[in-house]
Amino acid sequence: MHPDLADRLAEVDSRIVDAARSAGRDPGSITRIVVTKFHPASLVQDLVALGVTDVAENRQQELTAKRAELPNVPVTWHFIGQLQSNKARAVRNAASVVHSVDRDKVASALDAAADGLEGVGDGDPTLDVLLQINLTDDPARGGVVEGDLAALAEYVAGCRTLRLRGIMAVAPLDEPPALAFERVRGYSDRVRTVVPDADWISAGMTADFAEAIAVGATHLRIGSAITGPRPVRG
Ligand SMILES: *Cc1c(COP(=O)(O)O)cnc(C)c1O
Repeated sequence: MHPDLADRLAEVDSRIVDAARSAGRDPGSITRIVVTKFHPASLVQDLVALGVTDVAENRQQELTAKRAELPNVPVTWHFIGQLQSNKARAVRNAASVVHSVDRDKVASALDAAADGLEGVGDGDPTLDVLLQINLTDDPARGGVVEGDLAALAEYVAGCRTLRLRGIMAVAPLDEPPALAFERVRGYSDRVRTVVPDADWISAGMTADFAEAIAVGATHLRIGSAITGPRPVRG
């Protein structure tokens, strides 16, 4: 195990507690997901040994490969990357939570993939999903735009094997995160007019998790602050 890993994890966790307290929130209401992309599967094992319960990957092939390498590691796998419908079956086979549903086609592909599941996970027939919100004006950044959000929420709510849990957002590059995250709560409220208990807000990365906690994030996706710099991948 890398000697710094435990220290970095403890340091991030204490910053999460501080940010929660400053926001008047219970730190126990926040799930810290460690983003392990680009790192070897052994890092996931090390994190689990340190008590980590949730990890995330952003590419289907890497997620599938790590799950195959670590079939019995007790950890919840989250998928947080852009998702194409032809990868939906493989993602559903490997992940328990998908944060990046941003169009009907992806939702319907994930729903259809419930047939013939390979039996990973706890046997729960429903898949937890979040709607990825686009906080920018650039459609290439992925995510649903505000005007399409309620319709997508209704579509997902109608998918028999999907459970809509809330929303996911990534701060834009060209706007202070605190400002952009102010819009997140409104999007969350909008989704909860469709599915009242879909109250998860997945927001906050290494650079902006305190700002995300201040606006009510329930799930943080933190990579490099915990794992150290990602290995370069060609
Ligand atoms: C890589 C990634 C993260 C984590 O990024 P860090 O800055 O390393 O914390 C969070 N969310 C998504 C969608 C990512 O792709």
